[in-house]
Amino acid sequence: MDYTDNVEQASEYLRIALPLLNKHGIPPNPIHYTVWYAYASGQNSNLTKAINQVIEAKGSVSAEMSHALYKKHLQNHDAVSMQVHEGVNKVMEALTDQLVSSSDQVMHYNEVLDVVDKELEVESGSGHLHDVVKNLSQETHVMQTVNRDLTQKLNNSSTQLSTLKKELDEARKAANTDILTGIPNRQAFESRFSLCIKEKTPFCLLIADIDFFKKFNDNYGHQLGDKVLRFVAQILQKHLKGQDMVTRFGGEEFAIILPETPFAGAMTVAENLRNIIQQQKLRRTDSKEFIDSITLSIGVAMYRPDEAGEDLIERADTALYQAKKNGRNCVTAEEALTQTA
Ligand code: GH3
Ligand code: MG
Ligand code: MG
Repeated sequence: MDYTDNVEQASEYLRIALPLLNKHGIPPNPIHYTVWYAYASGQNSNLTKAINQVIEAKGSVSAEMSHALYKKHLQNHDAVSMQVHEGVNKVMEALTDQLVSSSDQVMHYNEVLDVVDKELEVESGSGHLHDVVKNLSQETHVMQTVNRDLTQKLNNSSTQLSTLKKELDEARKAANTDILTGIPNRQAFESRFSLCIKEKTPFCLLIADIDFFKKFNDNYGHQLGDKVLRFVAQILQKHLKGQDMVTRFGGEEFAIILPETPFAGAMTVAENLRNIIQQQKLRRTDSKEFIDSITLSIGVAMYRPDEAGEDLIERADTALYQAKKNGRNCVTAEEALTQTA
């Protein structure tokens, strides 16, 4: 995907997209905005096809439908929404630059007229020529004001666009964040995981599961269970670095993607994380007593070029199951790599 629409192209998409939002009575929020710019640009053929089908069947596209299309075709396609914002920002910047420079020219012209006017006054005292210059000068003042006004309006639009972009970034971040723990969620995992598979990045996958987690809920209540989840998530995140990514995979399970990491390295990372979690001591807020120690079982698997993502997850899951069978609070490698681990 090309990230850079040039200014002319972007202006053209913008020119098509905005009236379409209007026509279908769709509010211009960041989500709809992205959908219709992408539609105008034809950058996502599935989206274009879907919109055309809705228009054909129903005559128009509702805001709800536009939102559903965003979720289906764009939400996880950062490249497309990036391109949309880049395009629009470029148009705005180019227009503002043009206006500022034409404003400067008008101002300069006006100064020249003022000088000429003064010289005429000195040399001829009065007369027709002097009136002509005065008229020109007044007209130029009007132009200058109009230009300033337009520049101001463009600056305002540009600010609105930055706000839209910020809102969209926030919406995207929220859609990829697990609400309980604050770390990336399953959706974020799927995006990153499929990108690694698509780009054939050599990587390892860890699936970590809190041991006997149910007993935290049963013994101390669901709220304490939630606190344990947040605590483990934050510690895992804190101890991973660079491109590594920890996500809440589901319930009390975390999936960790380790790009460009050889298998032995992944085993070391897993063992470190297991050890760090085991050493933590968590107190109850009410009685200040320490709760039972928290431990993790971790399954480790390595991506094999050209395999399907599900197969890799399956092997990491089987390794995790084996770690549980081996007594929990331990790290187990996928079967094929057990000898080397
Ligand atoms: P094992 O060592 O075999 O993994 O045992 P376990 O108790 O950890 O596993 P089990 O699958 O039996 O129980 C997982 C529990 O996690 C059950 C479920 O209620 C709880 N759980 C899942 N999501 C949440 C959550 O968001 N908050 C809380 N408090 N509990 C959750
Ligand atoms: Mg589990
Ligand atoms: Mg568990």
